[in-house]
Amino acid sequence: MTDPIHTLVTDRAAEMPDTTAILDCDGREVTWAAHRDAIEAAAGLLRARGLRAGDRLAIVAENCHATAVLVFAASHLGAVSVPVNARMTGAELGRILDHATPRLVAFTTGISAEAAAHAGTFGAETLTTDFGDIALAALPVPAGGDDLPDGVAVILYTTGTTGAPKGVMLSHDNLRFAGNASANMRDMAPGDRIYGVLPLTHVFGLASMLMAASTAGAAIQFEARFHPDRLYEALMGGVTVFPAVPQMHALLMAWTRDRGIERLEGSRLRYVSSGAAPLDPAWKRKAEAFYGLALQNGYGMTESTAGSTGTRNAVGLDDVSVGSALPGTEIALDTSVGSEGDREVGEILTRGPHVMLGYYRNPEETARTVDADGWLRTGDLGRIDAEGRLHVVGRCKELIIRGGFNVYPPEVEAALNDHPEVIQSAVIGRGLPGGDEEVLAFVQCVAPETFDTAALRDFVAGRLVAYKRPTRIVAVAQLPAAPTGKLLKNRLTEVFADRLAEMERE
Ligand code: ATP
Ligand code: MG
Repeated sequence: MTDPIHTLVTDRAAEMPDTTAILDCDGREVTWAAHRDAIEAAAGLLRARGLRAGDRLAIVAENCHATAVLVFAASHLGAVSVPVNARMTGAELGRILDHATPRLVAFTTGISAEAAAHAGTFGAETLTTDFGDIALAALPVPAGGDDLPDGVAVILYTTGTTGAPKGVMLSHDNLRFAGNASANMRDMAPGDRIYGVLPLTHVFGLASMLMAASTAGAAIQFEARFHPDRLYEALMGGVTVFPAVPQMHALLMAWTRDRGIERLEGSRLRYVSSGAAPLDPAWKRKAEAFYGLALQNGYGMTESTAGSTGTRNAVGLDDVSVGSALPGTEIALDTSVGSEGDREVGEILTRGPHVMLGYYRNPEETARTVDADGWLRTGDLGRIDAEGRLHVVGRCKELIIRGGFNVYPPEVEAALNDHPEVIQSAVIGRGLPGGDEEVLAFVQCVAPETFDTAALRDFVAGRLVAYKRPTRIVAVAQLPAAPTGKLLKNRLTEVFADRLAEMERE
């Protein structure tokens, strides 16, 4: 093992003690030296509360300095942090804690009403620290072995897009590799300021943002929640790097359009990216016109410590791929998985130092996911173009087979999103008696009550061949989303069960 992750901060503090490392949500500026001191103080506090090497520290958090401090403080003690989003419900949080069995749970109560509410239900002790208000609760740890492999730094739970979230064990090496790869992709350096709105409780925030900044000595400006107006203010206020999920770009584009702002002018922004979910080609074009920069697309997952591929495009290049494998990693396709009709599409495999140690307490699923040669099965379908760039066409589990033809939901979503009144959309397949599948579309629009779904049907008919067109369109005000902004497709039929039943009766 190389050095544990907290030494990134120790190293930066030695090199540039007085340079700004963090701009916290409350506007407080923290230097690298102060950041290191806060981590050491937090480690002392956690040790005094009984946290030992190998123990788990759950961090029920939103983005702020305290969250970053707690992750590194756990590393300091050889403990494993389990960052969990404070916006989860009590039941969701309970399931994760039952699985992770942490000795201590920390809550970022200083900035999050949700974290404070959870802290209340645990009867946590509130503490005022140099890095903000937090609360701590001790949990009884079950007796018995811990089955943790060596070198684990964090257990991160996947988004839960396709089923229950899985606990992914990432090592110090995984995180250091990912941080370095991500910093290199973006040419990050001291003087950069990253807009820190991707949740630190998700791999894109933790690895591509926090680890990358700690590697490069770049500053992070934390933002606990996404708001287009706050984002616009930050972009005009000195941010240079903006990593995002695609929905953030779409929401900013809708916001600027309403205000007649056509271009971002007078900003220091030099790098903007999208990852964690399919990037709609039309959103990409609109966003590039607005930012005046290429929108770089990165593909990865929790199990691959965020990054597997990324683009490094010049502005104006009409590239809708996710780029090529990060240096030091490999990408391959298993075309035996795709369907007969589409021989060039296969399941994406990736191998290298970014591949997880495994799923916590789930060796069977680990064995199904990472083979003996180290290849990680991503569960995503892709193809590789003549230039060697990867295109993600959808998820294996979400592939719809209608009348024997393959329908990839992101392509249908892109056609729907093209309609000026559609903000975003989610397409899923639903089994029909007899084994065929129908294409269900849920569209988020400004005025769902008056939205003309028949007109949208005609609109997509001009863009999609008949078998790809939605059989049903449900207009809604809000689609179920994870705290990152990623859409939670496995919730759709449950959340809109009444609407679907109503349509069935019509
Ligand atoms: P779960 O595994 O719990 O169902 P999840 O797969 O959404 O949830 P994450 O690890 O957050 O959990 O997301 C990784 C997935 O996101 C990838 O497997 C892929 O489907 C999708 N994804 C990530 N980046 C991109 C991208 N640039 N383009 C298209 N899809 C992407
Ligand atoms: Mg997944």
